[in-house]
Amino acid sequence: MKVLAILYDGGVAAEQESRLLGTVENKLGIKEWLESQGHELIGKLTQPPSHVEWQLNILQYSKEGPDSDFQKHLVDAEVLITTPFHPGYLTRELVEKAKNLKICITAGVGSDHIDLNAAVDHRIQVLEVSGSNVVSVAEHVVMSILLLVRNFVPAHEMIERGDWVVSDIARNAFDLEGKVVGTIGAGRIGYRVLQRLLPFDCKELLYYDYAPLPAAAAESVKARRVEDLKDFVSQCDVVTVNCPLHEGTRGLVNAELLKHFKKGAWLVNTARGAICDKDDVAAALASGQLSGYAGDVWNVQPAPKDHVLRTAKNPLGGGNGMVPHYSGTTLDAQARYANGTKQILENYLTGKPQEAGNIIVGIGKYESKAYGQR
Ligand code: NAD
Repeated sequence: MKVLAILYDGGVAAEQESRLLGTVENKLGIKEWLESQGHELIGKLTQPPSHVEWQLNILQYSKEGPDSDFQKHLVDAEVLITTPFHPGYLTRELVEKAKNLKICITAGVGSDHIDLNAAVDHRIQVLEVSGSNVVSVAEHVVMSILLLVRNFVPAHEMIERGDWVVSDIARNAFDLEGKVVGTIGAGRIGYRVLQRLLPFDCKELLYYDYAPLPAAAAESVKARRVEDLKDFVSQCDVVTVNCPLHEGTRGLVNAELLKHFKKGAWLVNTARGAICDKDDVAAALASGQLSGYAGDVWNVQPAPKDHVLRTAKNPLGGGNGMVPHYSGTTLDAQARYANGTKQILENYLTGKPQEAGNIIVGIGKYESKAYGQR
């Protein structure tokens, strides 16, 4: 049996820090375990990231070309392990070539890099380690909201430059207290964001989700559901995106929706880059329709050097809180999703039932309701 794992190159950091488990070097900590059972783990080989441009070429080629390690090994792999942080995009075309593939395991949360409809059609199961990094992301969301609202990034950059002009920063810095914050998606992460926002005494906490929260859960975070998306965004000072990427959410936050945002609202997206149209977001920032955009997810990963959201700014030269995709891959999260991946593998190998909450696609059908209303 071949287990194929698409992991990212951790370079020197991964050699020095063994808890960087999601890397080629440390192989989710499962290599020895698998080999002792007579299985082969093929970790994708990439070059050390000493020169960024060169690394990007290698990564794109190696992950995506017909001669890439990914496609070469996929044809006879039975198990595919991927991480959302360095996605191996499993398209319908590749699913059709992967004649032996039985199970895809996402080491983390978010399986949109897999064509889930094709997996249903080809009776390939898709599982993720649900919940493994939801606290990590929720913390990052709260941090990102605060850094935008309080205009933190330009303030720090000013300090590094050696300048000190308090008024230039304070003219666009606010308190979170008294603001209306809303989440698109109130699942594991969205709900945890609401929980963490409660002590900030926001004016109101809102959510937009086709799945209503249980009454007691909504009550405990004092969240109000708004059923129409335009109506929802028009009430929010801060919008945070916490739903999966699927047919119904791709490009959801676009120029048309951004028109309905409050002028000068802040937008945080740690869900998936493609949920927000990058050019429309950059234009809304430039015009001041948005005061800020922050998050860690990009429509293509790694983001090209000239990606518009690397440098997009509001009219005052701030409002950008973008970072590489790492909110859900803290060392604490890596330990959890590495263990969860091993558990899913072990269940698969020994024929034990999988934890229901981890199954996105079962054999021939969706088991999760989170990837769109069907
Ligand atoms: P979850 O399944 O617990 O919750 C998702 C929620 O989104 C569900 O309540 C679902 O009903 C809702 N939803 C689906 N489509 C919607 C739509 N069109 N409009 C409004 N709501 C919709 O998932 P989760 O654990 O909260 O994770 C959510 C997403 O966050 C993941 O799918 C993944 O894309 C992303 N994520 C990012 C990172 C990171 O490192 N940046 C890490 C983990 C997860």
